[in-house]
Amino acid sequence: MADGQGGALAQFDVVVVGAGFAGLYALYRLRQSGLSTCILEQGSGVGGTWYWNRYPGARCDTESLQYSYQFSEELQQDWEWSERYATQPEIERYLNHVADRFDLRRDMRFSTKVEATVFDERSGLWQIRTGDGNTTFARYVVMATGCLSSSLTPKFEGMESFAGPQYHTALWPKEPVDFTGQNVAVLGTGSSAMQVIPIIAEQAKQLNVFQRTANYAVPAWNGPLDRDYLKWFKANYVENRKRAKRLVSGFLCYYNPKTTFEVSDEDRDREYEARWREGGIGYLAAFSDITTNDEANRLAADFIHRKIRSIVKDPKVAELLIPDSVIGCKRLCVHAGYYATYNRDNVALIDVKTDPVERITPTGVVVAGKDYPADTLVLATGFDAMTGALNKIDIRGRRGISLKEKWAEGPRSYLGVASSGFPNLFTVTGPGSPSVLTNMVPTIEQHVDFIAGCIAANEARGGGTMEPEVAAEEAWVADNDGVAHRTLRYNCTSWYLGSNVPGKKRVFMPFVAGLPAFIAKCDEIVSEGYRGFRFEQIQENARGAA
Ligand code: NAP
Repeated sequence: MADGQGGALAQFDVVVVGAGFAGLYALYRLRQSGLSTCILEQGSGVGGTWYWNRYPGARCDTESLQYSYQFSEELQQDWEWSERYATQPEIERYLNHVADRFDLRRDMRFSTKVEATVFDERSGLWQIRTGDGNTTFARYVVMATGCLSSSLTPKFEGMESFAGPQYHTALWPKEPVDFTGQNVAVLGTGSSAMQVIPIIAEQAKQLNVFQRTANYAVPAWNGPLDRDYLKWFKANYVENRKRAKRLVSGFLCYYNPKTTFEVSDEDRDREYEARWREGGIGYLAAFSDITTNDEANRLAADFIHRKIRSIVKDPKVAELLIPDSVIGCKRLCVHAGYYATYNRDNVALIDVKTDPVERITPTGVVVAGKDYPADTLVLATGFDAMTGALNKIDIRGRRGISLKEKWAEGPRSYLGVASSGFPNLFTVTGPGSPSVLTNMVPTIEQHVDFIAGCIAANEARGGGTMEPEVAAEEAWVADNDGVAHRTLRYNCTSWYLGSNVPGKKRVFMPFVAGLPAFIAKCDEIVSEGYRGFRFEQIQENARGAA
């Protein structure tokens, strides 16, 4: 079939956009429902986040035994994770294994960038236009485009004049990059920067790190997985997964029910120290009030301040590395040797908060009138999170209204999975879902199962259209905003709020009340016949003509 302009045409029940964790599971799950399903993926391979973020040191900050699928007990028993925190190459291998094991590749089109997705009200079909000039039709679209997949590059004056290579951590080349003997400038000090900096420091002649905001980081203490722990975890996988789902983050760790002020000063410090020695983001679970009580938060933060001072030898550098914000407001970083890297003679930290980057020259970065020589620029400057990847696609629903226009004053969705005016279009980990505040992989499975249930319910009603009612959507957004305002997460500039992107409306995007509350809401909505969703029949069945 051709579209009259030379592009090929195809039609599926469902088109899934993206071949990361969400897209692969969506394809697997929707195929099981008997729906013809196809993935369109911009990259040349599977992986999503784990395909693009291949910078040296890229590693997950959630333990590998939990940052993995549970839909197949055989898979979780067979796959052998080698380390406590998996590297990018290992996760990419895992996702390739999943694609092969479940024969998913035959329904995937790689190097296929989705440019527009337009709803035709007459036929009830979505028309999906891709960069290769082809058009695909689908009754349903599932956007599995990820939360952190639209990279952000600030516009520094003179950037285009830079003579050497520039790499964004989220768009890293497949070929290894060698920094040996070079002057390297790293811009940014978030999670990505903290992982790449210690590795570049080992190779570079001189590494200059340009920091605007200091971030909190706890050690990973990564290493090979302990064999006894692995054996125990696998023997109890199903039960462990069930227990994790009952926790606010969906991540199994010990949530101390005690508050900060219930214990003596000595016991409090002992608990912080134990968490520090254990490593990982479980630090925030040391006491139950760290993310809700100002003083509790300050004490937990002070402990990390002391750690930074004890690791970093130059007191001026240590002070610069100490964040002045609430701990846990931004995502807590997990590092391997980040702070100690500043004890090296070839590493310098440059404050660009007081004096922002003035300009980039062909051979360096200018700050406060001083030119810092650079052969290579590394941009670890983050993402237009949660809405960025969706807004890059021209998504048009009823009456030709675009999702980007609808979301100009902040994203509006019901449960983070659907938005009114955009029938039969679903988002996995969309704004309004718990996604990034939880262990992503199990949450993705929950979101996809819910979406598969929505599609099945719609099919059972005749296969017309399904979309949220405006009132249900508005209530969902308002409730989340209300809860988010009462947390300490509102008190900083973070990608959760979109405030890292110039001009983006400041709205707390993820669902903040935790995974169990979200699952309970979804279950309740299903048990009440998909309360808050509107089902309609297609007026004129023109599908066959498409
Ligand atoms: P990020 O946390 O948003 O950090 C971006 C950095 O770039 C910040 O330090 C930011 O400073 C800086 N920056 C941006 N624009 C700048 C400008 N014009 N001038 C100077 N500095 C500028 O991004 P990320 O490090 O890529 O991490 C994003 C998220 O990805 C993480 O929070 C995490 O969820 C995920 N991630 C996870 C892992 C892992 O699993 N281990 C690894 C990497 C990323 P400001 O803070 O002042 O804006």
